[in-house]
Amino acid sequence: MSKVILVVEDEISIATLLKYNLEKAGYEVLLAHDGKEGLDLALEKSPDLMLLDLMLPTMDGIEICKEIRSKKINIPIIMLTARDDEFDKVLGLELGADDYMTKPFSPREVIARVKAVLRRFTSSFEPEQEEDLENKTFQIGKLVVHPEVYEAFLDEQPLEFTPKEFELLVYLIENKNRVLTRDQLLSAVWHYDFAGDTRIVDVHISHLREKIEENSRKPKYIKTIRGIGYKFEEPKNV
Ligand code: CA
Repeated sequence: MSKVILVVEDEISIATLLKYNLEKAGYEVLLAHDGKEGLDLALEKSPDLMLLDLMLPTMDGIEICKEIRSKKINIPIIMLTARDDEFDKVLGLELGADDYMTKPFSPREVIARVKAVLRRFTSSFEPEQEEDLENKTFQIGKLVVHPEVYEAFLDEQPLEFTPKEFELLVYLIENKNRVLTRDQLLSAVWHYDFAGDTRIVDVHISHLREKIEENSRKPKYIKTIRGIGYKFEEPKNV
């Protein structure tokens, strides 16, 4: 059965182009041209993935994203932004979107992202992966992480993460003491098999630091390796 993609986009030409290319790639496509209609379709039809424009009539993409996440509905969402400054703005909001794209984008790029997000989303529910994480608990300094139940504690206080932040944290911990480049992180956590925008990595690292570091300007867990990327370390004295 083909996967169902919900496209919420008020610009008819972009919506039509997306529909055409997604259908050509074998997906079933639902279209909504305003925010309210988009949210209703997302709730009624439970699509496998949502391509969600930011600026929409009746209800914008930010509100829709928040509404869906507040209902604990687990639809992967790719946010579409019109400009780079919008991209920076929404990245800072911790909306729980799975990916972001800035217009204009090529149909090839859209399909690649859709595939990457679906692959990642599906694989996190594959039973054979459960074994890997079963009963696994990480304790590093004051940080305790239980990957299988998506829980983490700092000094016994529960921490709240977006799904992507949590995945990034677990990946960093699993690769403790190794220097990881931004491209490696994009590929491992976002499953990009092409050059992506590494700002998404930096923004997620900064969110993680705000949550786990005593002083996010002097991080003890997540070190910046200048010109290369990041390294997760066991802090010396916490
Ligand atoms: Ca729009």
